[in-house]
Amino acid sequence: MSSICRDWQERGITTVAGIPWKPSALRRMLASARISGRREHTPRSSWEKTRSLLGEIVADTVWPGIISREESDRLRALLSDPERRRRVEGTTRRSYLLSGVLRCVKPKADGTPCGHGMVGRPRSGVPRYVCPNTRGTDGRGGTATNAGKTDEHVRDVILTALDSPALRKRLQRPDDEGNGPYAEIRADEEELEELARDFGNRKISRKEWMIARQPVEERLARNRAKPAKTSRTAVLLALVGSYEDMRERREKMNESQRRAIVTATVRAIEVAPANPRKRWDPDRFVFDWIA
Ligand SMILES: [Zn+2]
Repeated sequence: MSSICRDWQERGITTVAGIPWKPSALRRMLASARISGRREHTPRSSWEKTRSLLGEIVADTVWPGIISREESDRLRALLSDPERRRRVEGTTRRSYLLSGVLRCVKPKADGTPCGHGMVGRPRSGVPRYVCPNTRGTDGRGGTATNAGKTDEHVRDVILTALDSPALRKRLQRPDDEGNGPYAEIRADEEELEELARDFGNRKISRKEWMIARQPVEERLARNRAKPAKTSRTAVLLALVGSYEDMRERREKMNESQRRAIVTATVRAIEVAPANPRKRWDPDRFVFDWIA
């Protein structure tokens, strides 16, 4: 979102009101039902200051959609996925590519691994990842690793893994999800619309409306979280190629795109404490691959 906004700012593209696009406004616009020619209703209680991202779709309208309803449903699912939001917020705050992805596995007093996500913290101007779960302020004595070398090592390992026939085959396979969730989401939305109409026409009471809505809304929430999984495939499809191809393409990417490659391929990377006798030891890193 922020890279799109930056690009638009450079090209002088503004909102209708003539102000520069902000990521939050872009997100709201993309998630809105109106760009697919539909109308949504967001009930807002008096004590709530902010409107939730998604409203209930209440009607098809007379204006033509810029994107299809199916595309809109996918966008709405993707943008309202709480997992994604956490990842995105993480990427805008830090410039260390692997913050939170690297996990300290230094044994604690009881022998179990520390498990803390490592964060970027330079020492004497040298960027490093350190385990924050260490007494003292600068992570002295805890697990630490040179950020530049670690970023390069992780890049090489991930690109090598992506340059495999098995992965390419998996990406060529048609989407497992099929259109199942979309059809169900549409049906559930229609059911909610109908229930709202019945309540509006006083066919059912408010209480009956609330009770009838609950299971439908729960199923909707579950299904909406499903299509977001395919965004991972999209990230990898945009990158996959020979090792050299991928290296070249990755060089042109920005920080958040690079981070998307990491989070699409590994759940975490375990980092063992450094061996003081070794300068650089790639064996300290254990990759927890997403199958
Ligand atoms: Zn630790």
